[in-house]
Amino acid sequence: MKPGSACVLILSKDPQTRSILEFSAIEFGFKVKVIDHVEELVAVSLDLPVIAWFVDLDGLPKKPKGIVSLGRKKAPDARLVFISTEFEEEIANSCIEEGATALLVKPVIVSRLVKIFNQIMFEPELATHGEWEENTRTANENNSEKSISKKDEGLLRKVDFKCPVCSTAFLGTRFKLWILPVTDTDSDFCPNSCDKVHPELYSVMICPTCFFGTYVGDFNRMEFQESPKKKFLGMDYYLIRKQMTFNLDLKEERTLLHGIKSFELAATSALQLEYRNYLRLAAEFYLKASWLCRRMGHEPQEHDAQYKSCELFKRVYRPYSLINGRFPASGTIFATLDKGMDKLPERAVVVSCFLIADLARRLKDYTTAEKYFDEVKKIPFFHKFTSLSQHIYTVDRLFREELKKHKDTPEKGKKSGKFQLHGFVK
Ligand SMILES: [Zn+2]
Repeated sequence: MKPGSACVLILSKDPQTRSILEFSAIEFGFKVKVIDHVEELVAVSLDLPVIAWFVDLDGLPKKPKGIVSLGRKKAPDARLVFISTEFEEEIANSCIEEGATALLVKPVIVSRLVKIFNQIMFEPELATHGEWEENTRTANENNSEKSISKKDEGLLRKVDFKCPVCSTAFLGTRFKLWILPVTDTDSDFCPNSCDKVHPELYSVMICPTCFFGTYVGDFNRMEFQESPKKKFLGMDYYLIRKQMTFNLDLKEERTLLHGIKSFELAATSALQLEYRNYLRLAAEFYLKASWLCRRMGHEPQEHDAQYKSCELFKRVYRPYSLINGRFPASGTIFATLDKGMDKLPERAVVVSCFLIADLARRLKDYTTAEKYFDEVKKIPFFHKFTSLSQHIYTVDRLFREELKKHKDTPEKGKKSGKFQLHGFVK
């Protein structure tokens, strides 16, 4: 997704905050519209592909809760960012509950905004879990870096972890994401950064003892029952994971290889433990492993991860597949959900169907790609997500051109072996 195609709405009565927001959004390549009233946010969102609302709560009659529910109803594609002079527990909690992206405390600091803009550009259905703690931590600290000790200097910081499977306590390395500006995203939502480091490099944590892995934000709080834990720690499953680590130390500073191995271990952990929504998480982990393989330039490994991701997304999406051209009724969906899977939110249904199409395209499986590109546009709530649907239309249009070329010269296409690995949405 290119930021230039998306619009950011700013509502602030405070001229200084308004300018910082405006300049930062423009610098990031977004179109900006300054708004005077809450009602206008909705009206504009119905007309333009609006990607985010920045709402300064100072001097506003409406509470964040009201604004969020308005946004959810009328502009489901817009990410909501609130700004306030006071950091109040109550405001923060209602932001978290209602699924807002962030709460920024004034004075707004540009480096914090960089992180927020990165997050906005990122497909929310694939966002790394635990972002809220990060933003809240940021908000609490506000301008002071007092709580950051010597060991936290630089891009990385050390955090205490306790493995939810084998109970090992260890210090893991986390990345300060907000330092990395993302320039745009590829067709499969892979964030592109000018920096050598990839934004996704530190997003999963791996236990050094049993090699269980998941998103850093979820790591300490996951809970499992005894029986899947026992099976997971049993020799058969353990050796599979052990072999995958290449004896790398995954809790220290990472290279791309460390990152790829971490995602593979997280995917394997999900599939071995079969925890809640494991299929969806495993599909995501393999997708993100493929992003790092692309950054590394390792094509066979990238295809392997894409294939696994695509197959898992097919299983995730299956209950929502159109039946005779119609979206299935709720009862049918519930009856066909895989064990352990929750019903997907509407946006995730669209994203999953699209990712099957785009991954199949990248794997040169044109028949599957065409089927799912056709299907995604027929999902009844597809158009509700204005910036997402615009992105899908762009990729679809380029896919059709690619398909036409392939059909005209199939032999040449096969021989070349190159299929726009770096995507074409630039
Ligand atoms: Zn462990």
